[in-house]
Amino acid sequence: MKVSEIFASMVFSDAVMRERLPKETYNAIQRTIRDGRSLDINAANVIANTMKDWAIEKGATHYTHWFQPMTGFTAEKHDSFVSFGDGRMIMEFSGKELVRGESDASSFPSGGLRSTFEARGYTAWDATSYAFIKDGVLCIPTAFCSYGGEALDKKTPLLRSMEALNRQAKRILALFGNEVSMVRPTVGPEQEYFLIDEEIYRRRRDLIYTGRTLFGTKPPKGQDLDDHYFGSIKPRVKEFMRELDTELWKLGIYAKTEHNEGAPAQHELAPVFDTTNIAVDHNQITMELMQKIAKRHGMVCLLHEKPFAGVNGSGKHNNWSLTTDKGVNLLEPGETPSENAQFLLFLTAVIKAVDEYQDMLRISVATAGNDHRLGAAEAPPAIVSMFLGDELTAILDSIVDGTPYGAREQELMRIGVHTLPKFPKDNTDRNRTSPFAFTGNKFEFRMLGSAASVSGANVVLNTAVAESLRQFADELEGAESFEDALHSLIRRVISKHKRIIFNGNGYSEEWEEEARRRGLLNLRTTPDALPYYLSEKNIRLFGTHKVLSETEIRSRYEILMENYSKIIGIEALTMIEMVRKDILPAVSAYAARLSKNAVEKAEFMAGVSCDFERETVSIIGTLTAELYSLLGELEIATTKAKNIANVTDRALFYKDQVLTVMADIRAAADELEELCASDYWPYPTYGEILSSIG
Ligand code: ADP
Ligand code: MG
Repeated sequence: MKVSEIFASMVFSDAVMRERLPKETYNAIQRTIRDGRSLDINAANVIANTMKDWAIEKGATHYTHWFQPMTGFTAEKHDSFVSFGDGRMIMEFSGKELVRGESDASSFPSGGLRSTFEARGYTAWDATSYAFIKDGVLCIPTAFCSYGGEALDKKTPLLRSMEALNRQAKRILALFGNEVSMVRPTVGPEQEYFLIDEEIYRRRRDLIYTGRTLFGTKPPKGQDLDDHYFGSIKPRVKEFMRELDTELWKLGIYAKTEHNEGAPAQHELAPVFDTTNIAVDHNQITMELMQKIAKRHGMVCLLHEKPFAGVNGSGKHNNWSLTTDKGVNLLEPGETPSENAQFLLFLTAVIKAVDEYQDMLRISVATAGNDHRLGAAEAPPAIVSMFLGDELTAILDSIVDGTPYGAREQELMRIGVHTLPKFPKDNTDRNRTSPFAFTGNKFEFRMLGSAASVSGANVVLNTAVAESLRQFADELEGAESFEDALHSLIRRVISKHKRIIFNGNGYSEEWEEEARRRGLLNLRTTPDALPYYLSEKNIRLFGTHKVLSETEIRSRYEILMENYSKIIGIEALTMIEMVRKDILPAVSAYAARLSKNAVEKAEFMAGVSCDFERETVSIIGTLTAELYSLLGELEIATTKAKNIANVTDRALFYKDQVLTVMADIRAAADELEELCASDYWPYPTYGEILSSIG
């Protein structure tokens, strides 16, 4: 099987459209894709009909408007192509059905938007992301809005943010004499995940209900067991990867699954980058397929950010850059002084954006799951900072201070006059501890969690950079001498925002101290971070660029806070159930058995020591009593939490009261696991789970 034969075979791609559509219809859809112009109904009818014929040839019987509500998953409502006319069955699909759908919005989170507007929601075709066939269903990528036009999904603000960035970036390019028709952000999200055996998974209620283990002690040697678990990729995993690659390729997603050395049973998938909205759609499909295909191989794919305490968690690396319709990467330093100057201006825009909107970037990756990762010594810290590498930092220092840079060159950096030295890629990519790293010709935002959509992070990134560019364009468009104005702008902005640049070890404690001195935010948890969403600065940002209205922001805030509480609530209830039904009975039975043994020993083996039984029973007894009392505390806390009406107060209560008791419960239970005989302990251990793919 050749990749070229199957690649994008299930995609109603540009090539398919060019081949099948009449020329003028093809041109019409191209204009829509390029300029966002709306499609006239005649063209839509022709496209719909062609799309339907193509889909039926490929075996599809249904179509769906495929959208991304605020749940973070994708949603589909299948409709059949079949309808009845003149007493016979006909296959129909009109332009109207292609372009716009109606959906009951009431089953999706709306954060209060629902009460103000009708329950109806609309889905509208995103013609820039191609339709595709999945499981015999023609999927039409769509945006999802309320009756009043408010965004109810993750795609709408993303498309708006891309448009904002396009608008401002073109103004900047025009100043350099570069007229382009479009600037698009590109994204390549690398996805981490775990694969474990399905049988083992079924025996862990915590994994089933919450996606992560709520109990479990580290295997004796923890991750040092690398060699033991790794060596070569297990045949089952290999087969999974082969099938996943094939299925992804059919959908036009060029990805390569890889073995990852991060943790036992952990893997990574790296796709080739694409336009942001397509990359986001593709990442959603990828996550869905990973889970489906794992099942077919008797495995479960865990996408949770922290399935196992003490073992490396999973994230996503959002590689991000800007490309013109001519294929020029705007974050590529370039060759000439003018290209270098343009690069430095875009770089400056990103630096300013990351510093000014560090709160929003943190919020864009804030979930209950990711809170277990950020700030622990394995993932980027909760502090947003940027890595630029020594060379680039030296150049910026030179611009700011007017001092020579580079040991050899001893040159003064004059923007637009001098050329930049080459930055070897490995020099820029060395520091893996930075949350936001320049990697030669793109930025890599590394704080994203593995389970969440990458949309949110890109909405923030696009919009914040658009705002920098807007301010720059306003200033430079009116300048008398472009070169002077450019130099002084870059100099001023860098010196104002250079506190965000940090090339050192982001995992170290000294950095926390240093970051505090620099006045950088360190928002450790989701409920700590979210309130910043509502600050005047952030509402203004999204409003200025028409990405999110204040109403939409407030609804999103509610949904995110609510979601946090729901997740912790489910975890707490799962924990209660596991302790009460499995753990307490198990340790009690084991203690009883030990006591019985001790009595029998004393009776039949006079003089033989019962120290083991006696001491173990005593420790188990103490821990059991503690666990039981904590169980009571957790029950009270969860009941209290549920009754708190205000979403913010409720989330904070879950964080401060519920999570802390949960941590204590886990500590006691994990100690018990260590003491308890294997036969009695009710769950597969970390060692068993992490080595379950034989
Ligand atoms: P590696 O990190 O393995 O050396 P790369 O740096 O080439 O590999 O790419 C890592 C990820 O970054 C890939 O998913 C790739 O598609 C993506 N990427 C590369 N260039 C760009 C770009 N210009 N815009 C967005 N993503 C990119
Ligand atoms: Mg990476």
